[in-house]
Amino acid sequence: MARKTVSSLKRGILPTMVTAVREVSVFGDAIAYFNEAAKLLDLEPGMRRILTKPSRQIIFAIPFQRDNGELEVFTGYRVQYNFARGPAKGGIRYHPGVTLDEVTALAFWMTWKCAVVDLPFGGGKGGVTCDPSTLSPGELERITRRYAAELVEVMGPDKDIPAPDVNTTPQIMAWIMDTYSMHVRQHTPGVVTGKPLAIGGSLGRVEATGRGVSLVALEQLQRMQIPITGARVVVQGFGNVGSIAARMMAEAGCTIVGLSDVSGGYYNPRGIDATSAIAYAQEHHSLEGYRGGERVTNDALLELPCEVLVPAALENQLTAENAARIQARLIVEGANGPTTPDADHIFDQRGIIVIPDILANAGGVTVSYFEWAQDRAGYFWKESEVNERLADIMLTNFSKIRDISMQRRISLRTAAYVLAIDRVVQAMHTRGVYA
Ligand code: NAD
Repeated sequence: MARKTVSSLKRGILPTMVTAVREVSVFGDAIAYFNEAAKLLDLEPGMRRILTKPSRQIIFAIPFQRDNGELEVFTGYRVQYNFARGPAKGGIRYHPGVTLDEVTALAFWMTWKCAVVDLPFGGGKGGVTCDPSTLSPGELERITRRYAAELVEVMGPDKDIPAPDVNTTPQIMAWIMDTYSMHVRQHTPGVVTGKPLAIGGSLGRVEATGRGVSLVALEQLQRMQIPITGARVVVQGFGNVGSIAARMMAEAGCTIVGLSDVSGGYYNPRGIDATSAIAYAQEHHSLEGYRGGERVTNDALLELPCEVLVPAALENQLTAENAARIQARLIVEGANGPTTPDADHIFDQRGIIVIPDILANAGGVTVSYFEWAQDRAGYFWKESEVNERLADIMLTNFSKIRDISMQRRISLRTAAYVLAIDRVVQAMHTRGVYA
């Protein structure tokens, strides 16, 4: 799998080496999408040079004590990609495959994601190369607190605001908020988003990314004149994003015919009850043993007959190898970077519409923005207000993207990049380059 190749190539990479490995990296693929839109915008070479370089990459050691007393060291990363429109914003990922290259690509995407939904943020991302399933709660807490302490000077509500990503939870955000507040000697809820409600989290944040995926998917089905009732949906990945997107699309009338998580895929052409699958996954910590559908491999799951495919696990799932066999008419990218540029071209040629990650999964960061605003104001909104404002932001910007796509006869992805790059470039031109 491409992901493995990339991960093994990038282990131990230094910041200065990023340029040298672009052609084979996740960041390299990400830049390919940027370049396509930059060409259409006639972006001057100097601006391209600035926008294809991360502002700041930080790699650090995270020494910690295991419960048995042994000392261990993990590697932590934080990439602050661009600050033109505001403080860096982006999640923290705990995964054995985390590399500087991956974190840089994710921070790059965050820059465009925040811009595409017009939030006053730049892009950032972080990660720790670890396998949380092998860590006790105490070990997880010590790693998290050390991660936050290492970044205390460069984090903050006006500097860089982390959030959850793969394998990081509201509890982990709470430890970060507490560690940061202790260091700066000031209660600072706005330093992270995705926190528990008890310490300044926002209503609607947990569901926000899946809700956003579902909002744009349903909107596009209507545009394509595909009846929502009975539209067959396959969801890869059944974590925060995939499970909520599946539940909301089912509530709107779609039939969830396929689901998967790291344990494998489950297929039922008559429909899978998303709510009971969520309850099962919560009880058993995965879908392993779930009986609501026939077992299929994760590869086969992506190729099932359906109207909508929602990749909501990890990057590089839809590739030149399987793109020709995908049967969906609409792909809604819940995950970041699930489609390689080669696969994207194949989908374009085959007339398969792709709603790109930078829009499709922007619901999470949008409600993170609401959380940050609520924390700073010390005034909290009703859940209905959060959901209404989320729908307004997602659908208004989706409509702008569709207009650009139609006017310029380009894919929704390229149109989303055109809109986002234009907004970032406007901010950079207005501020000027301080040197
Ligand atoms: P999560 O950890 O809650 O869930 C990930 C899911 O993917 C799990 O069900 C896991 O079992 C499954 N998975 C892992 N490897 C798989 C594989 N090879 N095949 C099938 N399933 C596999 O993570 P999440 O928060 O739901 O994030 C999923 C994706 O969405 C990531 O790309 C993340 O960057 C992106 N995203 C998340 C948010 C958010 O708010 N959580 C926001 C924007 C984007």
